[in-house]
Amino acid sequence: MTTPQGHSSAQHDATLPTFPAGTILGYPRIGPRRELKRAVESFWAGRIDEAELETTAATLRAATRDRLVALGLRADDASVPGSFSFYDQVLDAAVTVGAVPARFASLQDDDGTLDLAGYFTVARGAGDDAPLEMTKWLDTNYHYLVPEIGPETAFRLASDRIVREFVEAQAAGVTTRPVIVGPVTFLLLSKPSDVAPTGFQPLARLADLLPVYAELLRSLAAAGAPWVQLDEPGLVTDTIDVPLDEVHAALTEAYRALATELPRGERPAILVGAPFGDLQDALPVLAATDVEAIAIDLVKGSAPTGPVAGLETKTLVGGVIDGHNIWRADLSAKLEILEQLEGLGAAAVAVGTSTSLQHVPHDADDEPDLDPLLRSWLAFADQKVVEVVTLAQGLAEGRESVHAALLDASDAVASRAQAAGVVDTAVRARTAALKDADFHRGSVEDRRTAQTARLGLPLLPTTTIGSFPQTVEIRKARAAHAKGDLSLEAYEDEMRAEIGRVVDLQEEIGIDVLVHGEAERNDMVQYFAELLDGFAVTRNGWVQSYGSRCTRPSILWGDVSRPAPMTVRWTQYTQSLTAKPVKGMLTGPVTIMAWSFVRDDIPLGETANQIGLALRDEIADLEAAGIAIIQVDEPALRELLPLRRADQQAYLDWSVGSFTLATAGVRPDTQIHTHLCYSEFGEVIGAIDALDADVTSIEAARSRMEILPELSASGFARGVGPGVYDIHSPRVPSQEEVTDLLELAVKSVDPALVWVNPDCGLKTRGYAETTPSLQHLVAAARTVREQL
Ligand code: GLN
Ligand code: ZN
Repeated sequence: MTTPQGHSSAQHDATLPTFPAGTILGYPRIGPRRELKRAVESFWAGRIDEAELETTAATLRAATRDRLVALGLRADDASVPGSFSFYDQVLDAAVTVGAVPARFASLQDDDGTLDLAGYFTVARGAGDDAPLEMTKWLDTNYHYLVPEIGPETAFRLASDRIVREFVEAQAAGVTTRPVIVGPVTFLLLSKPSDVAPTGFQPLARLADLLPVYAELLRSLAAAGAPWVQLDEPGLVTDTIDVPLDEVHAALTEAYRALATELPRGERPAILVGAPFGDLQDALPVLAATDVEAIAIDLVKGSAPTGPVAGLETKTLVGGVIDGHNIWRADLSAKLEILEQLEGLGAAAVAVGTSTSLQHVPHDADDEPDLDPLLRSWLAFADQKVVEVVTLAQGLAEGRESVHAALLDASDAVASRAQAAGVVDTAVRARTAALKDADFHRGSVEDRRTAQTARLGLPLLPTTTIGSFPQTVEIRKARAAHAKGDLSLEAYEDEMRAEIGRVVDLQEEIGIDVLVHGEAERNDMVQYFAELLDGFAVTRNGWVQSYGSRCTRPSILWGDVSRPAPMTVRWTQYTQSLTAKPVKGMLTGPVTIMAWSFVRDDIPLGETANQIGLALRDEIADLEAAGIAIIQVDEPALRELLPLRRADQQAYLDWSVGSFTLATAGVRPDTQIHTHLCYSEFGEVIGAIDALDADVTSIEAARSRMEILPELSASGFARGVGPGVYDIHSPRVPSQEEVTDLLELAVKSVDPALVWVNPDCGLKTRGYAETTPSLQHLVAAARTVREQL
């Protein structure tokens, strides 16, 4: 039987609302021109008040709803997601259930409610009260705030914002589907609070949390919401430290409480979203619950091969449109996958996105500078909505009904496959000819001897991670040059002058290994994307990274090669200003890929090797220009780590391989550095060694060098620069503090291997704190040197 609202093969319970035929799991909330960022930052700066911020947000939500309906989602069937957030969806869930750490309790009123100022304080901290920790959301470059849960957390329904947003939309004529992080994932992604006993697992609080979710569902039902979406991406990973059978038991318990035990009249129908991977064994567990719909990710995951018990009463939402990348889909192929889903015995099959669209920019048609051919291959959020609507129609009314759109999509895919530059035979010949030896350097000991002789550095050499403060003047010059108001020559003169100042400052402070400061780089990835073949950059393609921060990922569309040297001039110029060694500074293959939109038509490992070879050539040119130390940053190495342990080794093989490919061509007396800047190394500790860099700098100040004993125990015996001060805060560390940390470092690692550097680059800092911090760093290094 075909209904206008869904393609349904089984009889539907008449009391159940039908799930929409097509939907998206979420939509960008920052606004096409980053309106939300501007409003939120104005609120923080005191330029607008809470009422004005609320008005701007409501206007944005209205514009989003209208846009989605104009693109073809229906206004009346809950296909428009209510996925707005002022800052972060996990923070939203935390404040909704009253899970605010004790240090912020004074911000709550008697009901546990926070006003907007309080909400932002939990996100950003205040004075000595640290904000919630931030960490990567699954395998994306989006960061969520980590709730702190302990035995003391007093769960209660502390915010009705989600209900109010539903009512607001309803009043404007659009029935939305409120979206909230589901209870199992909420706890899986939380960390134990400061006062929780050792070994405490936030998931242990599930039974106390569920009544609050139940109350929220009741309020939503009372407000008239036919559907709610509970996102449970925690179900697609096995890297969280909770055994899978406990996760599955929690899943059963949660949805028994929310679906089975809450009478249907008292709650909306429930869609459980499982983005970012394959549910694997969690699918039958979820299918056995009484939720009404399940959305599976059919981009990262695959469809079950046979019927799954329990699906016969549910709508299966096939997430065939990629929410995490920007390529137009081959709609015919996607339709085939959806048709196969219909064989699984679900009550109905609907069309969805694999993840929320918050990870892609708004609108590819809003990119006037992009080559029209490239643009014709792209689907940003708005184009993806149309793809979903098209597939839903095709599924309901047959392929012929969308014939023209299917052809158009196939043409786009074919045009992309055949376009010049997508396959570059010279590049492919080079990667095909790679031999094992191309990935390996000679013995570490020989290298160390040769480098020590060449560099003549003191014990505990001091250096920085690369960037110096990006001053207002630098930004102004870049903007003026981009606008055409400042000639290339004048712009480059300004950059050289800036480099001169940065070199002078480092010499004055007494740093041993200098950097050029990265003044000429707009961004550590985009800078290279603009100089390499195979990449394009966008004008308006912003995506939220965290809070009000947005990034504009480059688009990696073709085979990558390096038409000309990229950094040699700048590095050589810097070296000409000083007798001290200057460190060349490059971004590694994995980081370039992680912070770009990557190709979906060739294996990631092939692209990684292409970038690796381009960097290898750059490194050879730097070496030939007399540069003795070259740093290749890989801060995103851990970010792309697969969410299933079984997939991790294959990833580490190609990612580490691309790094060694880039760096293994150098002479023994050229020193290779790398920089990784996260503190959770657990899963990748072996990979750090396998990178085979001579020196690795890592984030370590906030964790008080915790990583070092672990690193030593793993057999790591290379140079290591544990960050001795946290650059994420404007605080200037005292000389004693830095000395303390260094003393800790030389206790757990052979002092001959220790380097002294900040946690990360200084580009977001000002000189007011950078200069004294580096002075203290150098003084502390001298003090500890004398003790050795
Ligand atoms: N070299 C870069 C810098 O100093 C490294 C940045 C990073 O690790 N994210 O800015
Ligand atoms: Zn860093």
